[in-house]
Amino acid sequence: MNIRLLSTDFDGTLVGHHADARTVRSLSEALAELRRQGAVWAVNTGRQLWFALEGLEQVNLPHDPEFVLTSEKDIYRRIDEGNWEAFGEWNAQTERQTIDLFHRAAHVVTAIEAMVATRDGIELLYENERLAGLMTEDPGTMDCMVDVVRELAADVPEFSFNRNHVWMRFAHFGIHKGSSLAELSRLLGIPREDVLAIGDHHNDIPMLDGSSAAMVACPSNAVPEVQELVRRNAGYVSPHPWGEGVADAIRHFSAVS
Ligand SMILES: [Mg+2]
Repeated sequence: MNIRLLSTDFDGTLVGHHADARTVRSLSEALAELRRQGAVWAVNTGRQLWFALEGLEQVNLPHDPEFVLTSEKDIYRRIDEGNWEAFGEWNAQTERQTIDLFHRAAHVVTAIEAMVATRDGIELLYENERLAGLMTEDPGTMDCMVDVVRELAADVPEFSFNRNHVWMRFAHFGIHKGSSLAELSRLLGIPREDVLAIGDHHNDIPMLDGSSAAMVACPSNAVPEVQELVRRNAGYVSPHPWGEGVADAIRHFSAVS
């Protein structure tokens, strides 16, 4: 095992809500060292492309990632400063799958919209005039939405979602951070044994379950379900939070490989 592809979540992993300079410095050093060794880095996030790039601009990292995997779905390759392009056929394929799913699950979408209209503290999110997901005012409401949406979508088993603390994105059950990471690694010809994935929340579980990355880790602020999963997969739970935890995990797997 040798880190050739690094997949990191963004919010709650690369950066915390109160990221400080110390965190960023240790992370910068670890990322720069990985690049010197020829490894490729992908930020794997639920954010849309423009929002992911905005987030990257706001943190002081030594260089941009080579890839950004956005909306828990799409794969973009960095061409040059500020320019990114769809990498391979994946984005178009998964978009077709998503359109088809929403066509078949139109009654589920209608039921979700009707349900949200009767409750406070939930906002529906639309992208390209299609219902994309929802945002809740607090994590407790999101936990509740998980059960509600599962029940509303019970007769369309492929209708699934990716969620973190207050965001939920509706998706085909096969489209998530794990499947996009597996596709990126296939396109790059890098086996899962050489992939390190690091994340903190529920939407990171598909890339931390061992199927797309043999090396898995999380920062100390990761939710309990993620920490348990990482331990079960012989991964590394850092005693440090956010970016400092990511830097620590990179050092850990660099030392053992
Ligand atoms: Mg996160």
